[in-house]
Amino acid sequence: MEWEEGRGGGGIEDRRGLGPVGTGGLGVGGVVLALIGYFVFGISPQQTTSVLSSGPAYEQQEGVRGTPSDEAGRFVDVISTNVDDVWTQIFRKAGQRYEPPASIVLYDQATGTGCGLGQSAMGPFYCPNDRKVYLDLSFWQELQSRFGAGGEAARAYVIAHEMGHHVQTLLGTSDEARRLGAQGAESGSVRLELQADCYAGVWTAHAAEVSGGKVALDPKDIEDGLRAAAAVGDDTLQKKAQGQVMPDTFTHGTSAQRTRWFKRGADSGDPNACDTFGASSL
Ligand SMILES: [Zn+2]
Repeated sequence: MEWEEGRGGGGIEDRRGLGPVGTGGLGVGGVVLALIGYFVFGISPQQTTSVLSSGPAYEQQEGVRGTPSDEAGRFVDVISTNVDDVWTQIFRKAGQRYEPPASIVLYDQATGTGCGLGQSAMGPFYCPNDRKVYLDLSFWQELQSRFGAGGEAARAYVIAHEMGHHVQTLLGTSDEARRLGAQGAESGSVRLELQADCYAGVWTAHAAEVSGGKVALDPKDIEDGLRAAAAVGDDTLQKKAQGQVMPDTFTHGTSAQRTRWFKRGADSGDPNACDTFGASSL
């Protein structure tokens, strides 16, 4: 995957190395589940299914804003900037204006967010209240060692997926899904997750075009992205965790579903192909 020459927009908020978050007297364990369940990437789906509302706003540490100097931080900056550029173009073509996330927050272990206390064990997530993506880079090791999905393209897919949730917030899709969830309709959160996968696919189709080829994925990179999507499917995660699949606790979609929607976005390059809410079968 090409990215080293890509543009970094400096929208990173680097909280790495800041130490333990100020919890204002609340125990860490008690507030973990307050974090909004919808937008967590998918480490422990069974922990997040019952949580549909956001937690209390948490005291946020002041990170360093800009482009990090280390390679891992720069990678996140370049990829997220490229994803922003793709969505800017897509929105403009539709006569709308794209607003980037407030920041992409890099942190260690735990940090305050607008959706409660963020913890690395939850995997990467997006908080709609403060419009920030939260990422502990130790997840990349986990992606490799636990899910067998290493490589830059797999990481880029994760970033593009989280930013897909930001697009949903801009378009009001997330609110709609929450209403569906509240009505007990077929899981709104699975449809949101699969749509974010599809949006990540849409990004791959336009990455090179908006960057003059400086950020580019080849077919093998797309395969890596697909593998990452499959690796973090709830059925795969739960098989690994419990040795059997429990469909009623799915929140993100099965591996086959995630692969299918990512591919649909990548093949079409069109967000209108990502209508998981209108689809009769996922
Ligand atoms: Zn997600």
